[in-house]
This record gives sequence, C-alpha cells and structure tokens, in this order.
Amino acid sequence: MNIKNNIPIIAIDGPTASGKGTVAFSLAKILGWSILDSGAIYRSLAFFIIQNSISYTDINAILSLLKTLKFSFHSNNIHVNSLDITEKIRNEDVGKLASIISENRIIRDSLLNIQRSCIQEPGLIADGRDMGTVVFPFASLKIFLTANIDIRVERRYKQLITSKVSVNISNLRSAIIDRDLRDTQRVVSPLIPAYDAHILDSSYLTNDETVSVILDLWKNRHY
Ligand code: C5P
Repeated sequence: MNIKNNIPIIAIDGPTASGKGTVAFSLAKILGWSILDSGAIYRSLAFFIIQNSISYTDINAILSLLKTLKFSFHSNNIHVNSLDITEKIRNEDVGKLASIISENRIIRDSLLNIQRSCIQEPGLIADGRDMGTVVFPFASLKIFLTANIDIRVERRYKQLITSKVSVNISNLRSAIIDRDLRDTQRVVSPLIPAYDAHILDSSYLTNDETVSVILDLWKNRHY
C-alpha cells in the first residue's frame, strides 16, 4: 500500500558514506523524480541544537525547537526557515550529534510526517537509514547500499576536502566507525536491511555502475 496514490518510491539505506547520497542524486536526475535526504533533516536539527546551546538530553527543548523549524528541499540542498544550510551541516560534529539524537524514539516519530510529506509525483528517491524499514515500508524498491570501511572513509574524506572542511583522516575513520555502531545498535529504527531489500556492495563499483544496477532492478521489477 502506498500513502499517496501509489507514487513510486525507491528507498536507499546504508551506513555512513556508502555512496547513498550520490547514487540517490543521480537516480533522481535520470528518472526525473524528487529526492529526500533524510540524514540532512537529522543533521539540520542537530545543527540548530548546537546553535541554540540546547543539551541533547533535553528532549522537551529539542521538540520545542523542532516546532520552529520549517524544512524544504531544493534539488540537493536543504533549507530550514528559508535558509540554505546544506554546507553548514556536513561536518562530523553535526553528524555525531545527529546520530545521538536519532536514537530517541520521540524525536524520530516527530520527523516521520516531514519525511512522508516529501512523496510527490512522479516518484521519490529516499536516502537514509530506515527508509525501507520504517518510513516507507511500502516502497516499490528497496536497496541496502554498503561498502567496506576503507572505501567509505576515503569517499567521505574526498567529499569533505572538496567542501573545504578540514579533516584528520584517522579521526574521521573513528567517527565513522562510532556512528555506524550507534546507528546499527540503537533500539529504535536501527540500521538494518529491510527483509525485502536488495543488498548491494558498492566497494568496487563506480557511481554510474551502482546506478545502473539499481535502474536494472527497477526496470525488471516493472516490465
Ligand atoms: O546520512 P547522514 O550521514 O547525513 O545521517 C546523519 C545521521 O542521522 C546518521 O548517522 C543517523 O544516525 C541519522 N539518520 C537516521 N535515520 C535516517 C537518516 C539519518 O537515524 N533515516
């Protein structure tokens, strides 16, 4: 069953820096669909928690803050209250806090509607940790994208350097391992493949090759 008139959804979940974002962006462009970067929502909330000096343990204050934030997506960018904060949320401090607050069930539940409201014609590519398991369990196609840790660290390192974020590679590696551990071991919506997900290891695939495998899965499902 689909929430909005059977609009197709491709859910792409996977660990940090597995290439989900780039793959999702390419797929959205090829299919002419919109895109939901759900991690950007968690990161944006974390960013404003830091900005407002709120403790991550103060769930009431976080929920009050959340009520003042209006999220919107513009191509690959996220705006909050009309402010483009895409670049500001990319560092590992924000990623770490995003991962900490995302362990909380009340916070996760409060973000469900925002994510589901992104479904729109002609289709949605949804990227995150629980797209296929919790947010869009009715997705038309589910991909669980992985890559080995060395490749993921290298990909994230290049991404951060390109965005002119200064980074120490061994700190980055530990931050990614810590975040993966927290995301996979949390009680609420842990990072796990949906039972009906296709598991795809992109360690030795280019972005184009990964996209092509997913497009084949999509086409073969429908024709
Ligand atoms: O994908 P990204 O690295 O931007 O996500 C930041 C953090 O937000 C993740 O490490 C994870 O803890 C959290 N997240 C989540 N569920 C999602 C997307 C992101 O818990 N659907």
